[in-house]
Amino acid sequence: MHEQEIDTPALVLDLDAFEANLDAMAAALAPTGTKLRAHAKTHKSPVVAKQQIARGAVGQCVQKVAEAEILAWGGIHDVLVTNEVVGARKLARLVALAGIAEVGLCVDDERQIVAIEEAAAAGGRRMKVLVEIDVGMGRAGVASGPPAVALAERIAASKHLIFGGLQAYHGRAQHIRSPEERAAAIGGAIDASRRTVEQLRQRGLACPIVGGAGTGTFRHEAASGVYTEIQAGSYAFMDADYARNEDAPPFKQALFVLSTVMSTATSGVAVLDAGHKAVSIDSGMPLVWDRPGLAYVGASDEHGKLEVRDGSRPELGEKLRLTPGHCDPTVDRYDWYVGVRKGRVECLWPVAARGAMA
Ligand code: PLP
Ligand code: MN
Repeated sequence: MHEQEIDTPALVLDLDAFEANLDAMAAALAPTGTKLRAHAKTHKSPVVAKQQIARGAVGQCVQKVAEAEILAWGGIHDVLVTNEVVGARKLARLVALAGIAEVGLCVDDERQIVAIEEAAAAGGRRMKVLVEIDVGMGRAGVASGPPAVALAERIAASKHLIFGGLQAYHGRAQHIRSPEERAAAIGGAIDASRRTVEQLRQRGLACPIVGGAGTGTFRHEAASGVYTEIQAGSYAFMDADYARNEDAPPFKQALFVLSTVMSTATSGVAVLDAGHKAVSIDSGMPLVWDRPGLAYVGASDEHGKLEVRDGSRPELGEKLRLTPGHCDPTVDRYDWYVGVRKGRVECLWPVAARGAMA
C-alpha cells in the first residue's frame, strides 16, 4: 500500500528516520560509557522497546504501573518506574511483576518506603527502590544531599528492599531554547547528583544507578561521569517543540499524523480531518511537513484549520503529513503505528500501552 492510500487520521512512522534516530543515540552514547534506558512513555510499545534494546539500551523507563505490566509481559526484561507509586493495589501489582522482570520504582518520602516494604514482604520478593531527588524541576523528588541520603539508608536497611540509586531528572531544562542556559541548568543537576553520590559513598552506600536526562539535554548528563543511565524518549520520534530548541537535538522527524483536506470552501483556508483529538497541541500547533506555505493555525476537536500563506492551497482530498507539537500525547491517541518506508507501508505495530494510566 502507498502512504497516500492510508485512511486518515493515522499515526505514520517513517521507518528510515526512526531507525536512524535509534542508531544516532547509540552512537552518541557509545564513547561516554553511559547507558540508555529509553523512556517508554513516548512510544508505549514493546516492539519499539526491543529495537532500542537491540542497539544497547539496558531496559526501559515507564511512568505508570500499567505501562510496566504491558512492557514486561511484552518481553522487556528490565523496567524502571521513574515515578512515585502510591496505593497498596498498585504496589502489589509491581511486586507481582517483579516475578517476570527486573522492576524498580522511585520514592521521595519515607511513607512510600514503608508501603513498598509491606507489599514486598507480603509478596515475598525484594524490590529495587531509587530515591528521586529534585535537581531543579520543583516537581517530585526529595532535596539532594542529606535528605536523600537518609531515605537511601532507610531503604538499604530493609531486608525487603534493595537501594537502586538516584533518580535525577530535570524536565524543565529539556526545552530551554538557549544552549548555554540549558547547559547551566543541567550543570546544577549534575552537581547536586555528584554531591549526593559522594555523601552516599561516605556512608558506605554504593549508588548503582544515577538516572535522568531527556532528548534536550542528554549529551550533558552522558558526559558528566556521574549519570549512568539516560532516559530520553522523544529522540526516537522527535516533534516540532524539540525542533525549536537552538542547537536542536541531532535527530530526524520520524513521527507524523497523516491527514486529509476535507474542506476548501473558505477562501485562503483548507480544513484537515485532524484536530486536537488527532494531534496534541499542548506544546504548540503541529507543522505541515514539506509545505512551508501552509500554517496550521487552529485546532477544534476534529478540524484542523490551515491558513494558506503562499497561494498554494492544497486540493480537496489531498493528504498531508503533520509534525506533532509534542510526540508523547499524540502517540497515545492511536491504536497503531503505520510504519512507512520510502512511501510504502511496511508494518503495523500496536500502541500496546495506549491509555495505560493506572
Ligand atoms: N525521564 C523522565 C522522568 C521524564 O519525565 C521524561 C519526560 O518528561 C523523560 C525522561 C524523557 O524526556 P524526553 O521525551 O523529552 O526525551
Ligand atoms: Mn514529552
